[in-house]
Amino acid sequence: MRQGLDVAPQVAELLSSEDLDRLARAAAASYECWICMRPGKLPELPTAVLIIRDGPVALAKLTHQSCARSGLMDAPGLTAVMSDPARAVSVDAVAAFLPYQAGHRPALLLEARATVSTDAGRGERVDRVAGWLLEHGLHLVAATGGEVEAAPRWAVHLRGGGTGLRVIGPIGELYDGDLQADPAWQREATTQGRRLLLAGGDLGLDQAPQSMEEVIARVDAVAGLGRLTGGLVAVEIH
Ligand SMILES: [Zn+2]
Repeated sequence: MRQGLDVAPQVAELLSSEDLDRLARAAAASYECWICMRPGKLPELPTAVLIIRDGPVALAKLTHQSCARSGLMDAPGLTAVMSDPARAVSVDAVAAFLPYQAGHRPALLLEARATVSTDAGRGERVDRVAGWLLEHGLHLVAATGGEVEAAPRWAVHLRGGGTGLRVIGPIGELYDGDLQADPAWQREATTQGRRLLLAGGDLGLDQAPQSMEEVIARVDAVAGLGRLTGGLVAVEIH
């Protein structure tokens, strides 16, 4: 079924078997070449899978093999260009007290989601948020409560008494916007120091958690899949 589809090893590494099947189906049905924007279709025209990366977002796209061979292509700013009206990447932030070693520690939860669906929603997107965060200095977190190493290349700015948040990583800003935080957390937000920053996909933060138990359950579920990253991050108060 994937016959005629050019998939470089470094591209295959980023795609699941289901992703590849979806791409092969799309290629056989007809697609718009990402490079020349003209139509293509397998098996008439050999087709290649390109992965276009912009930070945490990776999009798998089909091209004529004569236009581009299969491979990885970095396109910084791509998601910004594709942003409105449906934002390409949405990042949600929630503040919570989480178990940390013997006690609890004020923590920030970030969830980045790739929400781009391209080419009439054929779903050829890849979400590699956790891998990207690990590459950029966060650490794999096995479960809530364990020790987390410092992430010196990351910084957090709190403003408005903990109602606003800016998170800056090694290659730029990951989040700048509102922060959902309860009053107890907001009181914490006036103290300098280090916060536990946890980030990953599938935390479900677009639906505000009802309780700390629910937060912990969601975080542990993502950690159990090996998709939770974190670090102790310096906080600046504005
Ligand atoms: Zn083409």
